[in-house]
Amino acid sequence: MAKKKNKEKTRIHFDTDWKYDPAPESVEHIKVNKQYEHYIGGSWKSPNEGKYFNTVNPASGKRLARIASGSTSDIDDAVAAARKAFGPWSALPGKERGKWLFKLARQIQERAREFAVIESLDGGKPIRESKAVDIPLAAAHFFYHAGWADKLTYAFPGRNPEPLGVAGQIIPWNFPLLMAAWKLAPALATGNTVVLKPAETTPLTALKLAELIDDLGFPPGVINIVTGAGDTGAALVQHPDIDKIAFTGSTDVGKEIQKSIAGTGKKLTLELGGKAANIILEDAAIDQAVEGIINGIYFNQGHVCCAGSRLLVQESIESKVIKKLKDRMSTLVIGDPLDKNTDIGAINSRAQLKTIQKYIELGAKEGGEIFQCEGSLPDGKGFWCKPTLFTGLAQSSTLVKEEIFGPVLAVQSFRTLEEALTKANNTPYGLSAGVWTDKGAKIFKMTTKLKAGIIWANTYNKFDPASPFGGYKESGFGREGGLHGLSAYVTF
Ligand code: ADP
Repeated sequence: MAKKKNKEKTRIHFDTDWKYDPAPESVEHIKVNKQYEHYIGGSWKSPNEGKYFNTVNPASGKRLARIASGSTSDIDDAVAAARKAFGPWSALPGKERGKWLFKLARQIQERAREFAVIESLDGGKPIRESKAVDIPLAAAHFFYHAGWADKLTYAFPGRNPEPLGVAGQIIPWNFPLLMAAWKLAPALATGNTVVLKPAETTPLTALKLAELIDDLGFPPGVINIVTGAGDTGAALVQHPDIDKIAFTGSTDVGKEIQKSIAGTGKKLTLELGGKAANIILEDAAIDQAVEGIINGIYFNQGHVCCAGSRLLVQESIESKVIKKLKDRMSTLVIGDPLDKNTDIGAINSRAQLKTIQKYIELGAKEGGEIFQCEGSLPDGKGFWCKPTLFTGLAQSSTLVKEEIFGPVLAVQSFRTLEEALTKANNTPYGLSAGVWTDKGAKIFKMTTKLKAGIIWANTYNKFDPASPFGGYKESGFGREGGLHGLSAYVTF
């Protein structure tokens, strides 16, 4: 009887004014140095030009550490170290290379909490996501590729796969450790050596990885990590002794890279921007679809190149879906990235926040109707943006066309599947898309006609190391993950 009463009490008093108590992740076990150097040839090296920059916590605006800024001569040193290590590393039996990758994978798992906290401190993403997605997937990529290292002749039957040589790898700030894993694991498994340049706003987990590599006693020069901004990346791209460039970042920089290595014979894979359409058909399970849309654009602050930043909803269910979306948006918890209840953390940098704000203003100017939840953003000097939804935008409006890389969703409606396909494909990008429907036949119809490298059906933002990831058109070329990703690091 008492139980029943309690249940009812909970139900009766449930309303939208409730708040979770703070549940911050402990940071006592975390060690972040005041200053980090480059990791070159198995040791820590001060930058040749003596320059440093700050990496800040985007939730507070406070400096976390000083980071070495890489010059052309630092890149020269790193490429030389990688070249020296290439012979012995590529000559190592695959089984031995695999053991190193297994060790790395296991160590990432062992220290997962530390990596997750640092990822959230440096990047602003909710700890829930760092813990549940970034770090386990990073370990999974090393495990997966460790398994291939001694089976390359099975991966490419009847062929004789050889490593390319020294790979220059440049990564963005949205999934710092995971992107490092996506780049490093296939390169190392296939016998290449690497110079990795993390993004300037999120270098800490890559540097923690360097500490781990050092602790494990990895052969020197196999993995080199040089920190810096765009100039450092450009120096790596232009270095004459690089055999392959793997880049994840903006389409503009990707195009620049493509131009600058044209005619050099360097191999290239590019994973660039996106403007994915999430399409809800009228027969979809609406609550699940709404949750998928929220996950696709708002979790991780929309800092995902495959984010479902456009929603195409069938006209007959449009008002219902929008109402449910708004209701769900108003329950999202924005705030301290280290709090386990946080859904939406801090925007990665002041510059990115300005970009997002510029787009939001533009959306309103172009006639869109804006919805943001009531309530105030966290105090202090952090970078915050409310989840934002726009309706009433024309197909030609900037918010429908351009990648924003923030928690901003552009909603459009459609009547027929053909119209949905036309709208979804009417973009220079082609990275990802989502389809929500109860009918398998409709899934097949849509997925065969959508021009996107990754298409999810009745789910969104799901990743697996065995599943290739990459885009069409201005979203880049080449795949990461699976056999396709492996093949980007070998020649026959
Ligand atoms: P975002 O807009 O997401 O910051 P960028 O393309 O600017 O994406 O950055 C992605 C990565 O590319 C970062 O590591 C950055 O330092 C690097 N980068 C920026 N400009 C260049 C460039 N011209 N050449 C090589 N790398 C660059």
